[in-house]
Amino acid sequence: MNSAVQETLTSNLYDQQVKKLYHVGEILGLTEDVLQVLSTPERVIQVKIEIKGADGKVKTFVGWRSQHNSALGPYKGGVRYHPDVTQDEVIALSMMMTWKNSLLQLPYGGGKGGIRVDPSKLTKEELEALSRRYVDALYKYIGSDIDIPAPDVNTNPQIMAWYLDEYIKITGKADFAVFTGKPIELGGLPARIYSTGLGVATIAKASAKKFLGGIEGATVIIQGFGNVGTYTAKFLQEMGAKIIGVSDSKGGVIDPNGIDVQKIIEIKETTGSVINYPSGKKVTNDELLISECDILIPAALENVINKFNAPKVKTKLIVEGANGPLTADADAIMKERGIPVVPDILANAGGVVGSYVEWANNKMGEIMSEEEARKLIIQRMENAFEGVYQKYNKLGDQDLRTAAMAISIERVVNAMKARGML
Ligand code: GLU
Repeated sequence: MNSAVQETLTSNLYDQQVKKLYHVGEILGLTEDVLQVLSTPERVIQVKIEIKGADGKVKTFVGWRSQHNSALGPYKGGVRYHPDVTQDEVIALSMMMTWKNSLLQLPYGGGKGGIRVDPSKLTKEELEALSRRYVDALYKYIGSDIDIPAPDVNTNPQIMAWYLDEYIKITGKADFAVFTGKPIELGGLPARIYSTGLGVATIAKASAKKFLGGIEGATVIIQGFGNVGTYTAKFLQEMGAKIIGVSDSKGGVIDPNGIDVQKIIEIKETTGSVINYPSGKKVTNDELLISECDILIPAALENVINKFNAPKVKTKLIVEGANGPLTADADAIMKERGIPVVPDILANAGGVVGSYVEWANNKMGEIMSEEEARKLIIQRMENAFEGVYQKYNKLGDQDLRTAAMAISIERVVNAMKARGML
């Protein structure tokens, strides 16, 4: 096994996040007991999910919901379906949601869910059954004032619709605000589907202005072409950036002359992968991450930039579209190399801001216009960026992640103290 694989296997996302938390804790002067409280979730529920497969046999899956911190409000965060999901990973992601929601000043704590499954191997009926059984197992622990799940990796509005239908059937409560990221007909926000990408592009633009002199003509590579990568590419192209590389799980393509985003979206839809784009050069994901560009946006999974490839990355700015794409070692290397990294809890927060608008609309029985929602998401993201940038300047010799986490953690700690939780 090569060493990069070895590190990825051992660099558990939870350990990475705790490392980052302790680093910020030192700057904020937090004591060990407080750091222990913050590194432990309030509750983790593990569920067994059994469905009758298309072949008539029972299929068993394991899933989780981690409720990390509720000081600022009900738990909030997505649910991912992935064959490699672990309990530790879900806990780490729920902790990151606590910081993200706090940073954006949303009235939420942090939560996250996951099912260890490869959804591409399920029929549509199996996927529906799996989703409904997940809610059957968790309905007692969720609710619009308790814990509000949403889409994440490999989950989407259709899955939220099944969740909602199952929840209403079991509880008898037509509480539509219990899930966000729903289809429009079920109280979903039209802007929610692209809100994460809109947020990543907004933050890329704001940070390009500070660090590169502007987004116009900046060359961009995006790793990952799911919901986040696709819309990020679309919005960045509209803003005048030049997308020169994209990839998905099958590989990537680089074209220094610029990629036609609309065309590559269609190719991905019709052929299943961006690698079938007719021009440019085919590359692996590893090659893509170390190809030359002005802005690199990892928008797939965690730990893809680690101590082995971080020294080889050839970019001027990194914007984290995914959650946790850089390990703590990679952070240190980027700091040393003078490459700014705009952290996940800021860069990809547009999704949960969109969710917040959807939730608030559902609670009030109103629907905000798409234009208004879009403006609100952009405004919130720009304000959060300004706050982080000011903190970064104030802290001096610290990176942007430390600045962002310092703001978030301070707010959570103050809320916990005010409530008598600490
Ligand atoms: N899954 C998204 C995230 O990681 C969105 C969560 C939400 O909308 O609650 O931020």
